[in-house]
Amino acid sequence: MANQITSIRGMNDIYGDDAVAFDYLIGTAEKTLQRYGYNSIRLPIVEKTELFARSIGEVTDIVEKEMYTFADRNDESLTLRPEGTAGCVRAIVQNGLSHNQIQKLYYTGPMFRYERPQKGRYRQFHQFGVEVFGLATPDIDAELIVLTARLWEQLGLDNLELQINSLGSQEARVAYREKLVEYLSQYKDKLDEDSLRRLDSNPLRILDTKNPEMKDIVDGAPKLIDHLDVESQEHFDIVKSHLDDIGIPFVINPNLVRGLDYYNRTVFEWVTTELGAQGTVCAGGRYDGLVEQIGGKATPAVGFAMGIERLVTLLTDKNKVPSIAKADLYIVTVGDNVSRPGLVISEMVRDAFPNVNVQMNCGGGSFKSQFKKADKSGAKYAIVMGEQEIEEKVVAVKPLRVEGEQQTVEWEALINHLETLFNS
Ligand code: ATP
Ligand code: MG
Repeated sequence: MANQITSIRGMNDIYGDDAVAFDYLIGTAEKTLQRYGYNSIRLPIVEKTELFARSIGEVTDIVEKEMYTFADRNDESLTLRPEGTAGCVRAIVQNGLSHNQIQKLYYTGPMFRYERPQKGRYRQFHQFGVEVFGLATPDIDAELIVLTARLWEQLGLDNLELQINSLGSQEARVAYREKLVEYLSQYKDKLDEDSLRRLDSNPLRILDTKNPEMKDIVDGAPKLIDHLDVESQEHFDIVKSHLDDIGIPFVINPNLVRGLDYYNRTVFEWVTTELGAQGTVCAGGRYDGLVEQIGGKATPAVGFAMGIERLVTLLTDKNKVPSIAKADLYIVTVGDNVSRPGLVISEMVRDAFPNVNVQMNCGGGSFKSQFKKADKSGAKYAIVMGEQEIEEKVVAVKPLRVEGEQQTVEWEALINHLETLFNS
């Protein structure tokens, strides 16, 4: 036997209950976004490497060590997208979608990061992303948070904590950065390797350290939130009061910075303690500078991304995925020459009842084995056809999961008969 070919480490097949949960989550999210007036956008999975280096930031973890970058046959450097925002911004600039107009967009699909695979952290994972362009006011920051809260409610996910912070303006951040570096430099001998490296390149990211030994140092650091510019402070206050008005509890996490460079002002995360170390299921914020940085006209923007795998784990662990009946009707056909009328009848039923799931037994088998499959399918009724029924141009309609007697029905009367059954 030939050597079996396996998938790439950290890139998973999604099937069975996980696939059901996946589709359910995406379907529910899409419906929620549509109710708020958002439109779908579909974007390429591969982009020029330069796009990510320029937008995410040269010294972020993603660009430094996590990207799948390769040369194509024409020696152009391409990258499998590690996140969706950069490509979305590229698309709205390239297609002129941000000129004097507001765009409210959502998308979903795979992202790729070369990380150490573990629970909740994969090399191919999926995000559901939402981006808004053209709105600078804090009401939209609040709306994005509110609609995620509504989605959790619809999905039956409680126990998610909302953490928010403000990163202020670029200028306030530059001033703060100096204060932070000054503070951290006193502890140079105590900083871990990652933090030492970031001290010059990306000191804010040190606040986000997962190393418990660094906790005391980080807790004592000056807080960006105490050094906000006046406008950012006002913006943040309004976001908070909107959340209060709607009754969405939040905690302020002054160490909440994002792993990408482009954010300013509002940042937020939804966090759970039920997934171990990988507890953030949704993360986002404002990025007013990015559109211009990618070559467009200065356009305010704000967005977030949900980690689909982490949410799917929560949903399945908590049994929150509604089971879908695989079939309402199962067509049992036994004998010679019965599969042809069987197929015709099943299409006739599908024509008449667009919302009814009809499963036709394929591959033959005895009554016993076919009824076993019918039962497993979850169907309420079986339509049974043997040689005798074909001869008499009738079918037997047999209740499987509801009260009632089996009935013999003529082909012409079948649709009316089913109609009565379904409506009773
Ligand atoms: P983390 O701190 O967990 O690495 P991040 O800051 O890198 O997250 P973002 O770039 O903000 O994550 O992505 C948004 C969301 O996408 C995360 O909150 C998480 O739910 C999900 N996510 C990010 N990386 C992965 C991954 N490698 N595998 C699975 N989900 C991921
Ligand atoms: Mg990460």
